[in-house]
Amino acid sequence: MRKKIVAGNWKMNKDLSETEELLKNLKAQVIPETVQVIVAPAFTNLQHAFQSLREHPVTVAAQNMHQSDDGAFTGEVSAAMLKSVGVQTVILGHSERRAYFKEDNSVLAEKVNTALKNDMTVIFCFGEELNNRKEGTHFEVVKTQLTEGLFHISEDNWDKVVLAYEPVWAIGTGETASPEQAQQMHNYVRKTVLENYSKKISEDVSILYGGSVKANNAKDIFGKPDVDGGLIGGAALDVESFMAIVNAFE
Ligand code: 13P
Repeated sequence: MRKKIVAGNWKMNKDLSETEELLKNLKAQVIPETVQVIVAPAFTNLQHAFQSLREHPVTVAAQNMHQSDDGAFTGEVSAAMLKSVGVQTVILGHSERRAYFKEDNSVLAEKVNTALKNDMTVIFCFGEELNNRKEGTHFEVVKTQLTEGLFHISEDNWDKVVLAYEPVWAIGTGETASPEQAQQMHNYVRKTVLENYSKKISEDVSILYGGSVKANNAKDIFGKPDVDGGLIGGAALDVESFMAIVNAFE
């Protein structure tokens, strides 16, 4: 069964006391049983978030992770470190990681392997840039990101994978893909998964949309048949907006 998921990517926002405050407000909300809600605070606040959400249905994810098990990688964080503070889920391949930290498909493939080897769930992000869409190469770009970064994994790993389509031109810009554009790409992605894996895997994988999802557009986007939820940036920093998105499924 395909899961409905709403994940909040807090990016480089919220220090410890602000994280405590946001989590306190979030814990006061009723989380619908039909939606899996995830929050991804900064590394420094993951341990606190995990402890705070221990008895709560909201789960905690990291925003990134290094591909190596350990070693001389100044400033980096390993899968084992994340797991040691309770984190079982990691966002990989976010466009900000790809663009500002030069993470390419081959390094992402390694990160995916490391996460899966550590029995972690991966939220794998991909999406085209504006010039790709203008040139009409957006489907190809997405296919390449998936093929080179993810499609080497074996069939039995797919229950640990969530896909997140985030068109770069829609992230933090206030511009969203229309519900039709999102549906078209999500449907293409599902078909691409089917070309490489089983029908069951293609039907069961959750595909999230990310890019300026707000309380006022979530319903239309989540209403599309191949959109299984959202990866939320800005609107995840405000509990009222975030909960409106969590409750936007039909
Ligand atoms: P915004 O919702 O702020 O556009 O960010 C989307 C995103 O990048 C989530 O990972």
